[in-house]
Amino acid sequence: MGKDDKLLTETLMFIAQKGWTINEQAFYDSLSLFLAKNLNVAYVIIDKLLPEGNTAETLSFVAFDEVKSNVFYPLKNTPCENVMGRNLCCYVGNIQALFPDDAMLVDMKAESYIGIPLWDTKGTPIGLIALLDTKPIDNATEMETILQVVAVRVAHEIERNNYEQALIEKNKKLQEADRLKSAFLANMSHEIRTPLNSIVGFSELLADSDFDEAQKNFFIQQIITNGNNLLAIISDIMDISMLESGELKICKKLINVQNLISNIEKQFAYLTKAKGLEFKVTYQDNDEIVIHADEDRLRQILYNLINNATKFTISGGLEIGYKQEYNFVKFYIVDSGIGIPAEYHDKIFDRFRQVEDANTRKYGGNGLGLAITRNLVELMGGRIWVESALGKGSTFYFTLPTPA
Ligand code: ADP
Repeated sequence: MGKDDKLLTETLMFIAQKGWTINEQAFYDSLSLFLAKNLNVAYVIIDKLLPEGNTAETLSFVAFDEVKSNVFYPLKNTPCENVMGRNLCCYVGNIQALFPDDAMLVDMKAESYIGIPLWDTKGTPIGLIALLDTKPIDNATEMETILQVVAVRVAHEIERNNYEQALIEKNKKLQEADRLKSAFLANMSHEIRTPLNSIVGFSELLADSDFDEAQKNFFIQQIITNGNNLLAIISDIMDISMLESGELKICKKLINVQNLISNIEKQFAYLTKAKGLEFKVTYQDNDEIVIHADEDRLRQILYNLINNATKFTISGGLEIGYKQEYNFVKFYIVDSGIGIPAEYHDKIFDRFRQVEDANTRKYGGNGLGLAITRNLVELMGGRIWVESALGKGSTFYFTLPTPA
């Protein structure tokens, strides 16, 4: 058997044996050490391509027969950029002159380079194997053959691991969704039972002839209020399920923003006053600003945000307003309430998400309002976000497009 055939056989044996006897990291490292020793090169790098496509993460990095810590590096202007997702490349010498912007080649005192791309079974680039040396390459053909043999095995390993990671991530998300759903159900039962208890209780009192007219009127008011609360909860559940199944239809028309806001001001002036809160509305000089949106759904968005602002504010007050910015109108709802910690700024727009946990609940609510609100804003071509800090109040912004 010739020298080349012997190495090929050893490589095949190595792959066959190591594949199932050791864990993944040990497999990459022992393969790198094997290649460094048998192909007599200073450096062996096995890379995985990160999803955004411009950065590689080393899965194994061997320098002078020693395993080094893994690193991330940008592919731009490196020889690896020419390999990743492309072809096997071999630069037998003078590599630094060919890639003058690659500082790593200088640090490594690299003279030569050979790299092979790795593909998954769907033909997507997922990584590469590179060999570098401080002397010119004189056995390029042998190196290419060995690289081609190991590349298939390494690509399978990376692909399998990518699937495994994706499954772990998905499983985590499912567990979190399951936890949120259980919390939602417990919370929802409470939210539904409270008004329902009041409706039943006050109806029984109403049937009791001992009470006078004024008392009975009070009971009727309680039944109406609680009935409306119940209706609101059930409407939220229907809205979110229709939004998520894509069945909710939007009827856009031209809406004069000043008229709409003035209408909203009238409706909330009483509620905020009853809670002892200031309520300021800022109008623009231009009374012709129009947007293209579904009026009922826009009201729903504003009600949700203003209701929340009122609910989570104990002292101080609220301010609402709007501004035209390019092809959008930006609405804002400011409150001086309890505020929202930074790590919740995105999460609160997910269904069932609440900053309060079930054990310390003080404010009530079903955790659907902002999820519905975000869905509606996005369906109408806008965006919603919050700026807030714990104890410092919150400002919710959303945009909606002006007519084209
Ligand atoms: P709900 O108010 O019914 O709990 P939402 O989806 O409307 O559900 O809001 C989700 C969570 O976001 C609330 O439970 C609360 O923790 C937080 N939140 C929303 N608006 C405000 C606000 N203006 N100030 C403080 N926290 C808020």
